[in-house]
Amino acid sequence: MNKPHNLDTSELQAIDRKHHLHPFTDSKELNEQGTRVITRADGVYIWDSEGNKLLDGMAGLWCVNVGYGRKELAEVAYEQMLELPYYNSFFQCTTPPAIGLAEILAELAPDHINRVFFTGSGSESNDTVIRMVRRYWDLLGEPQKSVIISRKNAYHGSTMAGASLGGMKFMHEQGGLPIPGIVHIDQPYWYAEGGDQDPEEFGLNVAQQLEATILDMGLDRIGAFIAEPLQGAGGVIIPPDSYWPEIGRICDKYGILLIADEVICGFGRTGKWFGSDYFGIKPDFMPIAKGLSSGYLPIGGVMVSDRVADVLTDKCGEFAHGYTYSGHPAAAAVALKNLQILRDEHIIETVEKDTGPYLQKRWRELENHPLVGEARGVGLVGAIEIVKDKDKREFFPKEGTVGGVCRDACIRNGLVMRAVGDTMIISPPLIITKEQIDELIEKALKSLDETAAAIPGINFE
Ligand code: PMP
Repeated sequence: MNKPHNLDTSELQAIDRKHHLHPFTDSKELNEQGTRVITRADGVYIWDSEGNKLLDGMAGLWCVNVGYGRKELAEVAYEQMLELPYYNSFFQCTTPPAIGLAEILAELAPDHINRVFFTGSGSESNDTVIRMVRRYWDLLGEPQKSVIISRKNAYHGSTMAGASLGGMKFMHEQGGLPIPGIVHIDQPYWYAEGGDQDPEEFGLNVAQQLEATILDMGLDRIGAFIAEPLQGAGGVIIPPDSYWPEIGRICDKYGILLIADEVICGFGRTGKWFGSDYFGIKPDFMPIAKGLSSGYLPIGGVMVSDRVADVLTDKCGEFAHGYTYSGHPAAAAVALKNLQILRDEHIIETVEKDTGPYLQKRWRELENHPLVGEARGVGLVGAIEIVKDKDKREFFPKEGTVGGVCRDACIRNGLVMRAVGDTMIISPPLIITKEQIDELIEKALKSLDETAAAIPGINFE
């Protein structure tokens, strides 16, 4: 085959169509349209093979926290690959990058969290969490405490266990999920599900479903509760203030383990190092990935509290779990450098004090648009609800139709903004400037206007 980058767009699309199966994609539909070929990127911008420049409002897939084009990350990968491209961390071995990364993670994490188990992705991290929860209770002589409570519309990955922990119905429908031992309670999504309750009352009520489920199933069966500090893929759902304190109270009262899935929130998204810092959560486990390496190389991990790690390490016996790429030296070296960049350039403080508040102020202005029922967000993550009737919080029929129109308008206008149903979401690189935030808002507004203009022509049947 020719070098792919010597081919023009239609030639690349033809090969892609023939040989490449894409994630979360209707392949038939995609093959009719052809893929968008992304060829390069710099800062907050990406370019496609036709030369179109787009402001990447999603930081790839919520991951390119330091932005594109950081030479130091490429250099560190290059040097590490020459020195030691691979070695495993099984069989009493380790490598300097894995050691360095574990150390800095312990420094950055909340005080009671000092150890990490490395994985290759967020999904692998959540698979690992299930195995660790069950191992923990096994070692304490309570193997029946194997049930994990999660939430509807949560996203925890796409492997069998990750998708099962997640609460996405359309994923469960394929392949007979969830696997046994996982149950789902309601999510704290006030805008769509809060009805007449005020947000704080609603937050308390959905949190109390955790207690009701523990009592209903029996505490002797429940091992843990898992949640994203704020739901990302579900539509940037930010719980009411009443939610997390109540969840914390219930986990403490019953002694069940609390898992805060930090795959999106971790490494600065909210303006704090972890979503747990932002919401005041005290987790026993923090699955991490994405921003850990800013997506430059694949790596994830599970950060483990002292309470759990002491049991896992002090009791005898092998934990029969691990991946070929656990602690991969090149990925770990890149992640270590990435965290140093985030720390030494004060990128997260800038999000907290400067760009985050600025984005949130400008983002809220979108509520003045006739289509926008709510604009919400924290730090550098946000969502807008596109609705038919603002007063009644009523969505358009055929959920996802209007969202799709808006997403396509954004692309035409040079902005990557994602649609989750009719909820439009953003999560730009953390190095976005105020001028670029203005550009993002301007493009979003133009796209909303074009969406409003297109609605009378949409067939909602
Ligand atoms: N957890 C959360 C909260 C996520 O958002 C994601 C990915 N979007 C995952 C886990 C899974 O990560 P990965 O795609 O790296 O397996």
